[in-house]
Amino acid sequence: MSAPRPAGPGPTSAPLPVPGDSHRADRLRELDRRHVWHPYAALPPAMAPLLVDSAAGVRLRLADGRELVDGMSSWWAAVHGYRHPVLDAAVTDQLGRMAHVMFGGLTHEPAVRLAQTLVEITPPGLEHVFLCDSGSVSVEVAIKMGLQYQLGRGRPGRRKLATWRGGYHGDTFHPMSVCDPEGGMHHLWRGVLPAQVFVSAPPGDFAAAPDESYLAELVDAVARHADEIAAVIVEPVVQGTGGMRFHHPAYLRALREATAAHDVLLIFDEIATGFGRTGAFFAAEHAGVTPDVLCLGKALTGGYLTLAAALCTPEVAVGISAGGVLAHGPTFMGNPLACAVANASIGLLRAAAPAAGAEPVAATGPAPAGVVPAWQVAVRRIEAGLRDGLAPVATLPGVRDVRVLGAIGVVQLDRPVDLAAATAAAVDAGVWLRPFRDLIYTMPPYPADDDDVARIARAMAAAAVAVPR
Ligand code: PMP
Repeated sequence: MSAPRPAGPGPTSAPLPVPGDSHRADRLRELDRRHVWHPYAALPPAMAPLLVDSAAGVRLRLADGRELVDGMSSWWAAVHGYRHPVLDAAVTDQLGRMAHVMFGGLTHEPAVRLAQTLVEITPPGLEHVFLCDSGSVSVEVAIKMGLQYQLGRGRPGRRKLATWRGGYHGDTFHPMSVCDPEGGMHHLWRGVLPAQVFVSAPPGDFAAAPDESYLAELVDAVARHADEIAAVIVEPVVQGTGGMRFHHPAYLRALREATAAHDVLLIFDEIATGFGRTGAFFAAEHAGVTPDVLCLGKALTGGYLTLAAALCTPEVAVGISAGGVLAHGPTFMGNPLACAVANASIGLLRAAAPAAGAEPVAATGPAPAGVVPAWQVAVRRIEAGLRDGLAPVATLPGVRDVRVLGAIGVVQLDRPVDLAAATAAAVDAGVWLRPFRDLIYTMPPYPADDDDVARIARAMAAAAVAVPR
């Protein structure tokens, strides 16, 4: 079936730009508009993307010469900013050995080292690591772990998942089935997505006292559905793309106890929250609990390459293996370049913070006991800067709520954001932001200094004011 071609000349009418072409940027924009599909976009897209020529430190350099402070860390990933010399060197060094080899029947040092490090730094009890290509795939793997664990235990009736509303776990089909049914795009998939068990969204805020009746609701839901659910999956402490909401860690402890009582697995999706973003290295640490399965992604490679991981406990591994093999094996599993840069990124985060103005050096090991590691110094500084900078935003007309946790700042409006107006206002203020729904939010790269953070906060205020009332 052939659909009508969008208006305008065909694909060969806009030649690829050559070096020295003075219309290079215009040609690239035109080719992009014509051929490239962007995230959550129609064709042609409603808003033309900005053309980025390069990025360094916390700044994006646009083709038209403007420089923007990056308020998004490339969607939670680029925690060290861009062109970090230690991360660049890790990729180059690995490139000199091999870019990739298959992982079936072969292994290599970058993957083995990464797995060992992840076991060391994640909550105690997680001992086995499945490396895969993206966050959504790691959620798929975690779900398979849950289903296969129950099969291995002789409980084929436990085929569903349970979660709370307001969550987000990725765009492939099983992860979509546990995303928030209201805010996500569930309406497109009615009759397609598997039906899962939902409880209401966690109430309150990170610091608000836990709600006793909600704690009881969680425990009751797990008990009532225990015979049909393989696992409960949640984002601990911060629900990201589902609404940028924070909750009290007591709800995670309640889930831990309730799932353990019924041998239902508990999966934490820390794809967004991992690697320091919430003020703890992993958000699970706020609650002091270990899930049965943990998903990591995004900042795992410092934003350099796509890589994710699903970690599990020995009990889960034994349960699955009783029934056979774990049924997953992506082509680019354990990609050596991605593993090498992940090792370097984690090394930088764990090292002692460098003295002000010092050149970044490759970490030689974790910060000694009693010394605050680099990630924590950075996240505390950004948290303080966001609290100061965003406090006045709370009183602006049309602002419903302002909240900050770790290196995450959120301004929630009382109406949907006008994406074009809000983006333009932020860019005029020298900052890259990507608001969605009623949310203008930031999670800056950790090297953002006080001036950068203050500028981001001013840009968020400008973006809020720019949304028509
Ligand atoms: N889980 C969470 C909590 C996420 O924030 C995301 C990405 N926004 C995903 C899963 C999916 O990750 P990816 O985009 O790498 O597939």
